Amino acid sequence: MRALCGAGGMIDRCRGALVLAVVLLVSPVRAQDFPLELRPPVAARPANLVERDQGAPPAPAAAELVVPFSLLGRFVLPGTRMVLDLPVTGGGGDASAPVSVVHGARPGPVLCLAAGIHGDEINGVEIVRRLVNLLQPEQLAGTVVAVPVVNLSGFQRGTRYLPDRRDLNRYFPGSRYGSMASRIAYVFFDGVVRHCDALIDFHTGSFDRSNLPQVRADLRLPAVLELARGLGATVVLHSPGSKGMLRLAATAAGIPALTFEVGAPARLQVSEIEVAVAAINGLLHHLGMVDGGASDKLPQPIFYDSQWVRANAGGLLIGEVALGQRVQKGQRLGRVIDPLRNTERAMVSPVFGRVLGMAQNQQVLPGFAAFHLGEETSEQHAVEEAGTAVAEDVDEDGGRAGADAPERVTPADDDVE
Ligand SMILES: [Zn+2]
Repeated sequence: MRALCGAGGMIDRCRGALVLAVVLLVSPVRAQDFPLELRPPVAARPANLVERDQGAPPAPAAAELVVPFSLLGRFVLPGTRMVLDLPVTGGGGDASAPVSVVHGARPGPVLCLAAGIHGDEINGVEIVRRLVNLLQPEQLAGTVVAVPVVNLSGFQRGTRYLPDRRDLNRYFPGSRYGSMASRIAYVFFDGVVRHCDALIDFHTGSFDRSNLPQVRADLRLPAVLELARGLGATVVLHSPGSKGMLRLAATAAGIPALTFEVGAPARLQVSEIEVAVAAINGLLHHLGMVDGGASDKLPQPIFYDSQWVRANAGGLLIGEVALGQRVQKGQRLGRVIDPLRNTERAMVSPVFGRVLGMAQNQQVLPGFAAFHLGEETSEQHAVEEAGTAVAEDVDEDGGRAGADAPERVTPADDDVE
């Protein structure tokens, strides 16, 4: 994409070409019939790499077209994989996060997979590990760069935050000389993300909330919408993102990016993990990176308009619906109990919709975002709505945007959102 639109091309610069590409894709043939051309075929290798004896039989054409992939000061040869080290301490110490590079034998886009930016969101860590193990570099077209645990210290301590209590996903693209969070963000963004043609960032619900597997994407950006289409029958929500989020920094740098929310923090949910692995495999087909002919059978994503239902009183939340359940307008979603006065208040659904995310039973404060409800809509309507939507003050995982760790972390403290 950047190569198509000029070095370091911004989204704006690419917009004309992207709109044209999307128009071509949506009509008259089904969009998924075309792989997304994120990067034009890699140029022929330099003469010294393709040089061969005139009399010798030609080498396989594909092998000639791919040059070694350069990342973090290392070169990964075509048709091979390598694990690189990303220094993520923010200065001091020598801990590094592993970066798996699977460099295909054939030309194609660079797809980056990131997880564990919130250290307790371990479903994504396992999703990325499984995907990397499934890839065969000699069969792959393009390159997959996978970082299963970006927030290494948070992962090791089982917490969302960095040791300085900051939320890493509020500090992208980061700064070489900023806070610890900002430095780690910079190392990852500059060392890895800037080398991607597209990025998927895995998260879960925050603070004991669980999310149905779903993609959050800025549907105002054609390249992002096209990337979401490649994920098959996945729930897709428009979300412009908040300042400092990885996917916002990536799209600002001209790299289409999505957040993929899968399940709840601090647990491994195998069925949800499998859903996400299948969706990314579908995307690899859609992008033409993996053969198998699945791309023309890829089902359409399901677009939703969504809203949060919040507790109007503090107390003990007891849900009465299940994740993924369809609910009627006026249906009771749950109760908030005041155990001191022995009273309870009902929380009801304002719409006919589906439960896309919900809090586990827990103590809540007034205003706590308890149920995330979606109303199914068309892609066209979702895109139109995205153009006029007012951003809600809720972050990717269900938390309040822009929040670092509070002084006092308790399950009931809504400041942790
Ligand atoms: Zn997260």
